Amino acid sequence: MNRGRIHLPVSPVCNIRCRFCRRSFNKFENRPGVSAKLLKPENAAALVKKALERCPEITVAGIAGPGDTLATRHAIDTFEIIHREYPRLINCLSTNGLLLEHYAADLSRVGVKTLTVTVNAVDPVILDRICSGIILEGKIYQGIEGADILIEAQKRGIKKAAALDLVIKINIVLIPGVNDKHIPVIAETAAGLGASIINIIPLIPQHEFAGWEAPDCAALGKAREEAERFLPVFRHCQHCRADAIGIPGRGDISSLIYGEEGSPYASVEETFSHG
Ligand code: SF4
Repeated sequence: MNRGRIHLPVSPVCNIRCRFCRRSFNKFENRPGVSAKLLKPENAAALVKKALERCPEITVAGIAGPGDTLATRHAIDTFEIIHREYPRLINCLSTNGLLLEHYAADLSRVGVKTLTVTVNAVDPVILDRICSGIILEGKIYQGIEGADILIEAQKRGIKKAAALDLVIKINIVLIPGVNDKHIPVIAETAAGLGASIINIIPLIPQHEFAGWEAPDCAALGKAREEAERFLPVFRHCQHCRADAIGIPGRGDISSLIYGEEGSPYASVEETFSHG
């Protein structure tokens, strides 16, 4: 059965700084972190209604950005409304995991069933090469210290979410020469914390990694095989945008939904701060 999904781009800011991430608002790029505009939580239900009228196959409502979904309460507030009005939709959320422990119970309460946590390393020396810093309770932590705080927060968050029976997928951005030899350790750690599946995504070379070599098919295949020793591997990732709508592989209808007169889209934001 083909399952449709609607991604609701309600989360404007992020609380960590991945060196490969260049979030953006535009209509043409097809990758995570990109959205045409930002949606207000109170307008999400109207958008879901329009999308379901056009594409009744939609069974999943997801929030994946464009920033981190737990850096503000917007995602939880949105799911609270969606879960009340469309209880049959399966709610899913992607996060960097920094605040997952804090919000896991809230996510379970508002109907989130599946969770994606991006874990690019479980060794702070490696993570420091991927993430330049984090912001926690208004304070910036950089280098190894920030990486260590993030890793430990992710571990506690994944464990707590698993204890609440959420199905947890781990996303790993595969970066040749940085974390490619570290994949089995991440996979083994994730399995031990209660994750169910792994998704290995090739690096999109941009921002501080602009010009870096993206992994080829052989490198990706090897990483997936190594991860598979510990957890099943998801192989159908399509790098969806944060505002994708429709059935993956059958074209995207987001421009139809967002472009309609009286669209519930809120203000257009050209850019936003990492905090
Ligand atoms: S957590 Fe996501 S949105 Fe935040 S910097 Fe990393 S890739 Fe970008």
